[in-house]
Amino acid sequence: MAGDVVDELKSKLLDVIIVGGGPAGLNAALYAARYKLSVAVISEDIGGQVGKAGWVENYLGYERIMGPDLVSKFEQHVKSYGVPFLLDSVASVRRDGDIFIVTTASGDEFRSRTVILAVGERRRKLNVKGEKEFDGKGVSYCAPCDAPLFRDKVVAVVGGGDAAASAALLLTEYAKKVYMIHRRDKLRAEPTYQDILMKNKKIEILWNTIVKELRGDKLLRSAVLQRVDTGQEYSLSIDGIFVEIGAEPPVELFRGIGLKTDERGYLVVNNLMETSEPGIYAAGDAVNITPLDFRQITVAAGQGALAAYSAYNYILKRFGQARQ
Ligand code: NAP
Repeated sequence: MAGDVVDELKSKLLDVIIVGGGPAGLNAALYAARYKLSVAVISEDIGGQVGKAGWVENYLGYERIMGPDLVSKFEQHVKSYGVPFLLDSVASVRRDGDIFIVTTASGDEFRSRTVILAVGERRRKLNVKGEKEFDGKGVSYCAPCDAPLFRDKVVAVVGGGDAAASAALLLTEYAKKVYMIHRRDKLRAEPTYQDILMKNKKIEILWNTIVKELRGDKLLRSAVLQRVDTGQEYSLSIDGIFVEIGAEPPVELFRGIGLKTDERGYLVVNNLMETSEPGIYAAGDAVNITPLDFRQITVAAGQGALAAYSAYNYILKRFGQARQ
């Protein structure tokens, strides 16, 4: 974003700053814009986890769409309302009287009457030897970005959830062989995925198995795997490995703001998406009301809409119509 737009935003008292640009943040921005609130989105990226997802088959209106393509549709829709986006991460949010000061990692400060935290989760890493060394040289955290690089190659996906299933299926369109490495003997992925995975001849699931180390030269060449039931270690030749083992909320940010979190670090919100701090709302994967860890695009988007509506009502009640 051009510096003059940043300066313009810094000079304003905004109605709502949305932190995060995944489905929750983007839908909150759409609703806030339609309520004619002055709104800006601050986010490290646009799309969040969906921007790195493979085929999405359960977002209403799209029978099958790639994650990044769905994000483009979301972005186009929100940008048609002229909502400004700032690509940065948020370092802190603090109250100053009736308003909030949002400070970015770049040190810019923005003022707002309300804040919607739609920051999502951070992807988990394997934390094994070689993971960092071969990041971008065979290790990937984004199947749709990198799958085409593995045409006719042998790849592995680590994890047993929906994200791992989605990545594995996408990879079968390019790779000649796809191993799924899962630490248990049952998949967590939804039943429809399980059926498709089991029928796909390119996919082989390595049950009860963990990754101990990644090895190679200039590029990744193999993974040292271990059976958790027998302790047996062996080497598997692979050209690529896709890490899809879930994510965690950015609890330090929440604690820094002084917001209540649950024991796992997810933000405690009520059914209006209000956090423990009046004027700060939350939506998406980092909130604790997602029942049974049901983290879905449609749930996040719905929560984003509700958070924007709650922020709108708070502004009307606390500040009246006199918005800048
Ligand atoms: P997830 O559901 O938490 O699954 C993570 C998987 O990784 C689990 O199978 C877990 O094993 C495994 N795992 C976790 N830590 C590990 C470690 N350190 N080493 C090895 N394996 C590890 O995460 P996700 O698949 O990223 O999905 C996140 C959320 O997004 C879920 O709510 C999911 O439903 C949703 N999502 C939905 C779709 C969809 O198409 N519906 C697509 C993507 C994501 P255990 O099974 O043993 O715990």
